[in-house]
Amino acid sequence: MVIILLGPPGAGKGTQAAVLSKHYTIPHLSTGDMLRAAVKSGSVLGEKVKSKLKLGELVSDKTVLDIVEQRVKKIDCKNGFILDGFPRTKQQVKSLGDLMLNMKLNLDLVINLAVPEAVLSSRIEKRANDNNVERTDDNIETLNHRISIYRNQSKAVFEAYQSKGLILNINGVQDAKSVSTEILKKLKKGGY
Ligand code: ADP
Repeated sequence: MVIILLGPPGAGKGTQAAVLSKHYTIPHLSTGDMLRAAVKSGSVLGEKVKSKLKLGELVSDKTVLDIVEQRVKKIDCKNGFILDGFPRTKQQVKSLGDLMLNMKLNLDLVINLAVPEAVLSSRIEKRANDNNVERTDDNIETLNHRISIYRNQSKAVFEAYQSKGLILNINGVQDAKSVSTEILKKLKKGGY
């Protein structure tokens, strides 16, 4: 089973991806987490992407595709995975399509977590105050930048999957538990 989670920064993709990962026993692949891990490790890749992450800019399509490709080729992905934060450009949609074709994998569903922009700021502010979450990009200036990038890029991604009838729209303005319940209920109804 392969699921993509779409949604703006602060929509709760990570939280829902973790729930789905547990439910279907398939790994949760977050490109943001992978990139942050690279920065933390001080690797060449980490050094290359560090400033982009801090500023809330997108990392190049090629860099992101490389890390996704390496990750999905690992044995624990053989029964599928949940993608969180990827693809987020038209080029990434295309590259993912090619990669999956190559690996003979089928994309089952794209969950679109819809949250209005006004709600996002307050969520990220809360997250920034949470000491457990170490993110250099969780501040209001960077968030606004990340939201505007999302606004510019997400339409093409959404439309690519909508034209294939793969989108499942979910109301992200509920508490996390209710969002999970709505997702799992709709998935069950769809035969997943
Ligand atoms: P959010 O969705 O809250 O912005 P993520 O953890 O998904 O957070 O991403 C954090 C940062 O990692 C992004 O601002 C960007 O710099 C980088 N990043 C993550 N995924 C991608 C991607 N698919 N393409 C380009 N850059 C990415």
